[in-house]
Amino acid sequence: SQIFLNGEFIHRDEAKLSVFDHGLLYGDGIFEGIRVYDGNVFKLAEHIRRLYDSAKSILLDIPYSQAEMCELVCETVRRNDLSSAYIRLVVTRGPGDLGISPYICHGAQVFIIAEQLSMFAPSLYEEGITAITAATRRNRTDALNPKIKSLNYLNNVLIKIEAQAAGANEAIVLNTEGYVVEGSGENIFIVRDGVLSTPPAYLGALEGITRGTIVSLAHELGYQVKEEPFTRHDVYVADEVFLTGTAAELVPVVTVDKRTIGDGRPGPVTRKLHQAFQLTTRRDGMK
Ligand code: PLP
Repeated sequence: SQIFLNGEFIHRDEAKLSVFDHGLLYGDGIFEGIRVYDGNVFKLAEHIRRLYDSAKSILLDIPYSQAEMCELVCETVRRNDLSSAYIRLVVTRGPGDLGISPYICHGAQVFIIAEQLSMFAPSLYEEGITAITAATRRNRTDALNPKIKSLNYLNNVLIKIEAQAAGANEAIVLNTEGYVVEGSGENIFIVRDGVLSTPPAYLGALEGITRGTIVSLAHELGYQVKEEPFTRHDVYVADEVFLTGTAAELVPVVTVDKRTIGDGRPGPVTRKLHQAFQLTTRRDGMK
């Protein structure tokens, strides 16, 4: 594939950054994951806005306007002739000498990858995935708060390792107070008696763009959606559980810590929302 790298399009094998890039040395950088459906980049402006919010928060200057960045993403999709793709847009602090200070770096590096990605095997979207709750906890006040989509994803990597070690597909993170927060890279919803609940972002979750889409669709379908803190117990006794994210899309969860959720199959609310999500990703792609 052709990678956008600092103003040029380069073959993926040739696209390289310095080992002195602070993105690599210190995780000093930010990213977005974005999807393309039927040739349309889904919620592009929202993703770009969140990228610039992340940049502002860590005092990182991006050498393009938001409109220019949108155009660069679209150009990367066109160059690769893709009608469906997963885009990874990354901005690093750039190369500098050793030392934490961002002031010794020589300018942000920007790259955009557009390739295929499937988080879970297709059959799991029909059957549902298994999950555990992770021992790794989320601290909602430090710089790893996922409101900043930084290149420090080691907590999320550790969570994935925990899931694999337990023989599960995914892990659910609690914060240090024991409230359910999200998955390793997805937001979580539970359904009980036809009412949806999702943790408020202030508990330490990313305010997912897919999460926002699902909340709107749920309202359109006439469901009540609560944003309220809940615990592991509420997940165990839910009728339905599902995760949402740009990479995962909407994936049903059918067991959590060996407790069967509902009857062990994706429930009716999850299936309705999944169907509505598939329609909207095709319909609202350019928005
Ligand atoms: N939570 C975390 C930590 C993430 O990295 C992501 C992925 O972007 C999400 C949730 C889901 O957010 P979105 O739906 O915007 O992709």
